[in-house]
Amino acid sequence: MTIVTADWLITNPQKRPLRFCGARIQDKEIVEIGGNEELKAKYPDDEHIDGTGKIMLPGFVNTHTHMYGVLAHGIPLSDPPEDFWAFLKDYWWPKVEDSLDKEMIAAATKWACAEMLQSGTTTFYDILEAPNTLPGGLQAQREEVISAGIRGILSFEATERSGTRKGQLGIEENMSFHRETQNDELISAMMCLHTTFTCSEEFISEAFSIADQNNLGLHVHCNEGTYEGLWCEENLGKRPLEIYEGLGVTNSNFIASQCVHLSEKEIEIIKNTGIKVTHMPLANCEVGGGIAPIPELIEAGVTVGLGSDGYINDFYEVMRGAFLIHKARLQDPGVMPASTVLDMATSSGAMALGLEQVGKLEPGYSADLQLIDGQFPTPLTSENIFEQIILWRNAKHVSDVMVAGKWKVSGNKILSIDLDQARDALHKQARRLWAV
Ligand SMILES: [Zn+2]
Repeated sequence: MTIVTADWLITNPQKRPLRFCGARIQDKEIVEIGGNEELKAKYPDDEHIDGTGKIMLPGFVNTHTHMYGVLAHGIPLSDPPEDFWAFLKDYWWPKVEDSLDKEMIAAATKWACAEMLQSGTTTFYDILEAPNTLPGGLQAQREEVISAGIRGILSFEATERSGTRKGQLGIEENMSFHRETQNDELISAMMCLHTTFTCSEEFISEAFSIADQNNLGLHVHCNEGTYEGLWCEENLGKRPLEIYEGLGVTNSNFIASQCVHLSEKEIEIIKNTGIKVTHMPLANCEVGGGIAPIPELIEAGVTVGLGSDGYINDFYEVMRGAFLIHKARLQDPGVMPASTVLDMATSSGAMALGLEQVGKLEPGYSADLQLIDGQFPTPLTSENIFEQIILWRNAKHVSDVMVAGKWKVSGNKILSIDLDQARDALHKQARRLWAV
C-alpha cells in the first residue's frame, strides 16, 4: 500500500481542488482520498511518497495520436502543401504513411511513449496509418507500449485508398489485435476507418458491423478540412455525418475526431446520437484546417476529449492551445475556462474513449496520476489553480507519473525508457524515412 501526499490534490477538474490532501493506492487502484496528516496517521506502515510543494492530478488522456508522426518532425519539404487535400495527397500519404515499415514504427512508438509519459500522459489512443506494415504493424507497436508501461488503445486506420484488399487487411489487423490483447493489462483495440472519401459505404457498414459484434468503438477522422464535406456534398449529396447516420453506424461508441467543419445538422446528429468528439487544437493549426466549434459542442452536451494528433505531444501545450484559440475565434475571453480544458484532458477524454475507471483520482479509479511542481510566480488558490496550471506548466514541471499503480517517471526521470538509446534509434529511422 502506498500513500502519495501533495500540497494540492485535483481529483476531478469538475470538483474543487483539495488543499494538503493525498491518495492511498492499493495495487492498481485508488482506494482512499484524505488529508495528508490523516492518511499518514491512519496508515503508518504504508510506503509514503512525499509530494510537498507539488500538485497531484489525474494523468492525461490523449484521445487521438499518431505515434509515427514523430518521424515526420522536420522532414525536408521543397514546397509547403497549398491546402489540406494537397497536404494529404502530395505529402503525408506518399512521403510518410506509404513509406513506413515496422522498424520505423517501433522506434517512433518508443519515443512517443516517452514524450507522453514525461508530460503526464498516462493513457492514449493511437491511429496507425502505414499500409506497408500490414499485417503486424500493431504488434510492433504493442511490444514498445508494454515495455514503456503506458495505457494504450491501438488501432489501424482501415482505408480503401490503396485498394479494397488493403482495406480488408486493415479491418483484419484491428480484429486480430483485439483477439491478441484480450488478456493485456494496459492495451486494447479499437476499430478505425479513415474518412467518407476513402471508404465506400459498404466498407463502412462492414467495419461497423464487426466492431458492434465485438463491442468495440469505431473511430473516424471527420471533417478535418473543408475537403471532405465538399466531396460528400458533390458526390453523395449529403454531409459526412449525414452519411454515417444514414448507414446506421452512429451511436455512443462512434468517435468522430477533428470535426473542424460541421453544419448545423451535423451538430444535431452528434448531439442526438451520442457520438463522442476528439479535438486537436494544435494539429488543426498545423494543417491549416481551421478551428473546430468545440465550445458549441460542449454547450450542446457532447463529450469531447483532447488529442495531440501526433504533432506536439506535450499535453500542457495542447491544453494551452485549446484554452486560447476558441477565445480568439469567438472573440470571447469567457469561453473554454481552464477547468473545462483540464476536464477534456482527463475525465471527459476517458469517457470519449469508453474507459470507465480512468481520468479521475477517486476511490475505484485506476491509479493513473502525475505530480507537478506547485511553485508559481503568484500565489496558488483553489480559484486560480486550473488557470495557473494551463498557463504556466509544461512537461519539464512533471516530476512523477504513475500508471496503474506503478511509477513510470520519478524525480523528473523516465524509468522505463533509455532516452539516449531511443533518440538514436529515432534519428536512424527518421533518416531512412526522409531518404525515401
Ligand atoms: Zn489524426
